[in-house]
Amino acid sequence: MWIVPESAIGGLVDDQSAFDAVEATFAAMARDDAYNFPVVREALGEGRQYGFKSGLDRAGAQLGVKAGGYFPGNAAKGIINHQSTVFLFDPDTGILQAAVGGNLLTALRTAAASAISIAHLSRADSTVLGMVGAGHQSVFQMRAALRQRKFERVVAWNYHPDMMDRLASAVAEEGLPFEEVSLEELGAQADVIITITSSPAASLMDAHVRPGTHIACMGTDTIGKQEVDPALLARAAVFTDEVAQSVTIGEAQHAIAQGLIKPEDITPIGAVINGAHKGRTSAEEITLFDGTGVGLQDIAVASKAVDLARANGSAIEVAL
Ligand code: NAD
Repeated sequence: MWIVPESAIGGLVDDQSAFDAVEATFAAMARDDAYNFPVVREALGEGRQYGFKSGLDRAGAQLGVKAGGYFPGNAAKGIINHQSTVFLFDPDTGILQAAVGGNLLTALRTAAASAISIAHLSRADSTVLGMVGAGHQSVFQMRAALRQRKFERVVAWNYHPDMMDRLASAVAEEGLPFEEVSLEELGAQADVIITITSSPAASLMDAHVRPGTHIACMGTDTIGKQEVDPALLARAAVFTDEVAQSVTIGEAQHAIAQGLIKPEDITPIGAVINGAHKGRTSAEEITLFDGTGVGLQDIAVASKAVDLARANGSAIEVAL
């Protein structure tokens, strides 16, 4: 089996290779060539969470699991709070093939998902990117988004204004103007909005958002989190990575619970990638992508990392 250490990932997988791997996976899911197994997620006490996301991609011959969780005490030990590892198995024999550091890969595959939604659903003339959220993941989402359209500036709002410096610096590194704005200003200016927060209640309201906007809701990945007004989902054409997760642990859980939309109103983005669904239908339509994060995303980017690491000699071979 091969080991690809966390420290090697940054030199192996970039935004584009993550985009390509995740896009192919979403397409395979929509063709029923790939499916995710039920998610296991457990509270370990003292704020610790642990879980397993797994799946099989027959088209890509990939079988695997990401084991990962959140450990709030890690920061005090100088370790990042989110910790994960991806294990890949031979789908024909079940033999373990690889163990891959999953921390940076999680950030890259999550950024790839919103970038894919922007590439396939936003208006081609989008020039202003709006960010709701300024935490660890926001920088990855912003960078991957900038590669999809000719964005000229970035506006942002965060619940904790003191966290804004990291995102502001990252936008400056990309050579674009950055402005901290109110949610009203953000909605009035942005052509594309990414929400990436751990909020328990809606921040972005229906009234904030103008026609023609594309919204990628990326923060809600468990029961009880919420980033946007459920009325926004009723008004928008809603897309997702996986409908089963969208309606249970994704942003759509709230609109579904309130009876504002039904599961059949939500389109897997893989259908748009495959050409089975036309995606955006007009310049005025609001499109909303509910990115819940599926195990097959992790498996796709981990497989890519193994291929690249084996090719450049940075993968470590061990006998199990
Ligand atoms: P982080 O802890 O670094 O940042 C948290 C963000 O949420 C900050 O912007 C913070 O200001 C904001 N926030 C916290 N409480 C809030 C509140 N009450 N109202 C509004 N905003 C609030 O976390 P991160 O690593 O940037 O991750 C952000 C979210 O994305 C988390 O919920 C995480 O679980 C989720 N996530 C989703 C996926 C996916 O695949 N969909 C993948 C990775 C992370």
